[in-house]
Amino acid sequence: MGVEYIYPEFEVIRNQNRCINCKLCEKECANEVHHFDAEKKIMIADESKCVNCQRCVSFCPTHALKIVKNDCSFRENANWQEQTIKEIYKQANSGGVLLSSMGNPHKFPVYFDKILINASQVTNPSIDPLREPMETKVFLGKKPSTIERDKNGEIINNFGPQIELSIPVMFSAMSYGSISYNAHKSLAMAATKLGILYNTGEGGLHEDFYAYGDNTIVQVASGRFGVHEKYLEAGKAIEIKMGQGAKPGIGGHLPGTKIVGDISRTRMVPEGSDAISPAPHHDIYSIEDLRQLVYSLKEATKYKKPIIVKVAAVHNIAAIASGIARSGADIIAIDGFRGGTGAAPTRMRDNVGIPIELALATVDKRLRSEGIRNNISLVVGGSIRSAADVVKAIALGADACYIGTAALLALGCHLCRTCTVGKCNWGIATQNPELVKRLDPEEGSARLVNLLTAWKHEIKEMMGGMGINSVEALRGNRLMLRGVGLNSKELEILGISHAGE
Ligand code: SF4
Ligand code: SF4
Repeated sequence: MGVEYIYPEFEVIRNQNRCINCKLCEKECANEVHHFDAEKKIMIADESKCVNCQRCVSFCPTHALKIVKNDCSFRENANWQEQTIKEIYKQANSGGVLLSSMGNPHKFPVYFDKILINASQVTNPSIDPLREPMETKVFLGKKPSTIERDKNGEIINNFGPQIELSIPVMFSAMSYGSISYNAHKSLAMAATKLGILYNTGEGGLHEDFYAYGDNTIVQVASGRFGVHEKYLEAGKAIEIKMGQGAKPGIGGHLPGTKIVGDISRTRMVPEGSDAISPAPHHDIYSIEDLRQLVYSLKEATKYKKPIIVKVAAVHNIAAIASGIARSGADIIAIDGFRGGTGAAPTRMRDNVGIPIELALATVDKRLRSEGIRNNISLVVGGSIRSAADVVKAIALGADACYIGTAALLALGCHLCRTCTVGKCNWGIATQNPELVKRLDPEEGSARLVNLLTAWKHEIKEMMGGMGINSVEALRGNRLMLRGVGLNSKELEILGISHAGE
């Protein structure tokens, strides 16, 4: 249609005294922002195409570039902000649903930032993590509530299948197709080096990655893309995806243009056809139905793999989790509303779901009150940003955390939020071979290993400060947390006291 009424969101500022016309910015930008004006003999920019991915800024050898938010202002008021006005123009022009990438950007409370961690002083000494053993290893899966012995008095191992993690962090589901081959390889290699798990997402498992099976969670989503016996066998655990924090209540959609070559083969979807995973699993309308799928997958893998059920954090999450715990699943994964995504309808991403901190606290309390907390492990994701978030999540009741956006940032993502377009200049959310090459899996995996090695040190330091020497002893230990600036309802749901109490 006609005029879009949209002004460039960013301004490309080029210091002409520094620019040496090397044209590197032109080469590095898949969005074709920069080009050389032969007549004027200078580099110029088409700012309407800039997504502020910072690739040109990072690579400019003379630091001649700066991208800033365009201050060409709309007549905003408290009700009509620039973004809202632009969205109206876009929809008036296209007639379509707005799509976005990454997590909810709005200013909802981040409860992790309003929770403080305790430290030991005088009476309960802290522990020096450099000199004393600190256990960060965790096991996920059903735990027996009683110790049973055989007739000789020997303890019977009545544990179900377990996942062992060297630190309570895993890489969350990101499908091959939504992210590149090299991004997947970086995650798989890093998970193996770290002794943790990464997750295939709903795109199947590329044959090259079967070698990393012991560090892989294979996902079964409603579209069943790439799901077959060998795939189920390949993983250490199987995750049934019922929902996703970034878009609770709706399915997934990878456009036909991205279903090419290896991706089409891995997903078992013909080239060029859209891969649409429906909103519900068409065979699941109750906990009994879920139980059937849980046991079908257990049966298919000879009861050797823990089954994870992943759901989005929504209003009645405690009751849902209680049902899942009774379905035979070994692990619940709950994804909060700030969780990232390759593509989601903007309205869903920004308005549906609840914060993970509240969901986690309420689920842990409910499972404890029903006496079934040991029946199932609890993994949470959706905006876990640091070792402190991990420690707080564990003290609120999680057994482990999933990280997605933080892992992509470690790979070089600059949060430009245009993954949907497929032109990721950092080689992550793209299938363009030239762009994919920009991410070296060796370097990517090393950066992920560095990130989580640093987090492991920080987790140990924080636990040591509290006088706690294992993640297991921290789990659900809300006495270690205090809220700041929270109202009594929020404190009640989180199950913590206010600072000063
Ligand atoms: S990369 Fe920097 S120095 Fe090279 S052309 Fe672009 S702005 Fe100029
Ligand atoms: S993955 Fe790439 S496209 Fe997506 S937000 Fe990060 S830098 Fe941008």
